[in-house]
Amino acid sequence: MSFEYTPKVQELRKKLTAFMNEHVYPNERKWEAHVRSERRWEVVPIIEELKPKARAAGLWNLWRPKTHGGELTNLEYAPLCEIMGRVHWAPEVFNCSAPDTGNMETLLKYGSPELIKQWCEPLLEGKIRSAFLMTEPGVASSDATNIQTRIVREKGGSGNEYVINGTKWWSSGAGDPRCKVYIVMGKTDPDNPSRHKQQSMVVVPADAPGVKVLRHLPVFGYDDAPHGHMEIALKNVRIPTSNVLLGEGRGFEIAQGRLGPGRIHHCMRLLGQAEMALEKMCKRATKRVAFGRPVADQGVTRERIAEARIMIDSTRFLVLNAAWMMDTVGNKAAKKEIAMIKVLAPNVACKVIDWAMQVHGGGGVSDDFGLAHAYAEARALRFADGPDEVHRNQIAKLEIGEQTSIAEALVKAKPA
Ligand SMILES: Cc1cc2nc3c(=O)[nH]c(=O)nc-3n(C[C@H](O)[C@H](O)[C@H](O)COP(=O)(O)OP(=O)(O)OC[C@H]3O[C@@H](n4cnc5c(N)ncnc54)[C@H](O)[C@@H]3O)c2cc1C
Repeated sequence: MSFEYTPKVQELRKKLTAFMNEHVYPNERKWEAHVRSERRWEVVPIIEELKPKARAAGLWNLWRPKTHGGELTNLEYAPLCEIMGRVHWAPEVFNCSAPDTGNMETLLKYGSPELIKQWCEPLLEGKIRSAFLMTEPGVASSDATNIQTRIVREKGGSGNEYVINGTKWWSSGAGDPRCKVYIVMGKTDPDNPSRHKQQSMVVVPADAPGVKVLRHLPVFGYDDAPHGHMEIALKNVRIPTSNVLLGEGRGFEIAQGRLGPGRIHHCMRLLGQAEMALEKMCKRATKRVAFGRPVADQGVTRERIAEARIMIDSTRFLVLNAAWMMDTVGNKAAKKEIAMIKVLAPNVACKVIDWAMQVHGGGGVSDDFGLAHAYAEARALRFADGPDEVHRNQIAKLEIGEQTSIAEALVKAKPA
């Protein structure tokens, strides 16, 4: 395997880095001022100003996989996503932000031509935004078979409508005034003996009667406005049955597909966050003098800097490996590699950001260096993308299966 950047990727990295230097880093304070102001639940003007520039520079929708009309493989996109991830609001400038990339991909893969036209096209244009509604306050949602929202085919009459009832929370992005569409997971067939065939995914317009955004949920006190993580009630929401994705009872199949590319993007962005933290750590440690010498001259700081570099680089190799596997053998065959980086990337980012905060002293936990917010995000990703424990269970299950089948094969192959 070779993870060398192709000439196309090298060129894009150069362009993207130049764009970040010219337009994103110098505007971090501007973004911050908006999201801390009374107008924070309104669209952030600086992001809207930069979108046409990113588009003109050929840096638009880079996430879009080759298999679905895009230009890049997952392996090629990874280093670009990492650069965008250095500043947590930057991906939206390039129309590469969560949860839209995962939702667009889901629509492209599993939506009818009508749904693609109505919802995916404006998303690809960056004109609207979207949310993914799976998690529920009432049940342990890391086990998606628990999801209770009901999606009932209306009997009698035209019989071509679903009626949806349930409550969702942690619906990221639903606070944005441009969030016009949700992908909702719920039960269409709760009595199906196969627990993995009870659920379906449907497309719900955010302004459908019966949809009510109840409140936002802060993450360690950060409201992430205007994006937001919302609690949403769905009460007798009616949608046409043609809004089902892939087909009734196939929600799990989609969840597995969706949890591929759209979700490893978080790992790529987390590498950007960890790199940013390490850079800040090194700069601060060389400037700050304590007990007669720069903090960078303390053995403990050096040890942490070295360890951070080792951890980031080894995580990057595993992320590239997962991306390469997805490109070459598919999401399903790459599930162990995907699960591994979902555990590793947020844990590594948390550790590196934590060390960077320590080097910054009290300033580290303030909002002056962006580290506290970065930590909150990375920490939340230890369950937002499925809890560590669930991924570890899956890795162990696959590992045990592989190891025991190898042992069995060896026994069988042994001459009598
Ligand atoms: C910032 C943020 C953004 C989010 N965005 C979205 C979104 O856009 N859409 C959406 O639908 N959801 C979203 N979520 C929700 C997220 O996906 C869930 O929180 C996650 O799946 C866990 O579900 P739960 O909170 O119900 O935890 P539970 O299922 O109640 O699990 C609680 C804990 O139990 C333990 N546990 C669970 N299973 C096992 C196991 N098999 N082995 C050992 N221990 C276990 C783990 O420690 C786990 O953290 C977001 C969450 C956060 C914090």
